Amino acid sequence: MNDTAKPQTEVEKLREDNALKADLISISAHQLRTSLSAIKWVMKMILDKDVGPLTGEQEGLLKKASDSNERMIVLVNDLLNLNHAQDIVLGYTFEQVQFEDILESVLFEFMSETKKRGIEILFIKPETDLSLINADKAKLRVVLQNLIENAIKYSKDGSKIFISLTEDTDGLKFSIKDNGIGIPEDVKAHIFEKFYRAPNAERWQTVGSGLGLFTVKKIVERHGGKIWFSSEGGSASGGESNGTTFYITLPKNSTFTSEAKA
Ligand code: ADP
Repeated sequence: MNDTAKPQTEVEKLREDNALKADLISISAHQLRTSLSAIKWVMKMILDKDVGPLTGEQEGLLKKASDSNERMIVLVNDLLNLNHAQDIVLGYTFEQVQFEDILESVLFEFMSETKKRGIEILFIKPETDLSLINADKAKLRVVLQNLIENAIKYSKDGSKIFISLTEDTDGLKFSIKDNGIGIPEDVKAHIFEKFYRAPNAERWQTVGSGLGLFTVKKIVERHGGKIWFSSEGGSASGGESNGTTFYITLPKNSTFTSEAKA
């Protein structure tokens, strides 16, 4: 064996191990999700009293079980997204994409949720067509789904969320501003860490995994972009806040190519 062959073999072995692990996570998470969804629909039928009346106590207990089940579904979904973000098996598929189209279609998915909560999302559309960017469509969907979902989740009912999308010589800049609970000063440094949830967020919304922003950052950086936020006035005790704005940039002329499938 020559000197240059050895490191390559080790790298290959590592890639294989990682691919196997990613596969295992993916298969288990999909199976878990299928079972959890089945449980969800059975519990919904019982809670909707499709199969007969319930006592108040039965309803209360079942509601608790159903909430726990929902939390598990969120966690499993986040695990799947995280796995895809560092996907070694499927890799990233780069192609020329129109970011605004992806944004519009993700916004459409949230329509019933925002309607239910009386939240209005105001998207200030760019006046002209934006340049196409070199990106993985499915992964950018995950980015937008997480940022929009968080803005809604951490906002009060009836509030407004502002989205803007602009272009300059370097690339696209997307921002999403909410008037929600804010991010307290002392936890700002941890927000992109795996599994991290701020105390005010945990109190406000029990459903969450702390995997979303970690995944989003990985995806944005894999595209050669940046992500950051500004937030004022959030406090651990849940005091008043001026909300939070998340920003991402995505370069226009990146030369990333799709990875070979393992
Ligand atoms: P989670 O599943 O908890 O929402 P994320 O990884 O998406 O996890 O976000 C990590 C943490 O960042 C959240 O738990 C919350 O503390 C904070 N956060 C994210 N987005 C917002 C937002 N729009 N407003 C306030 N806090 C936010």
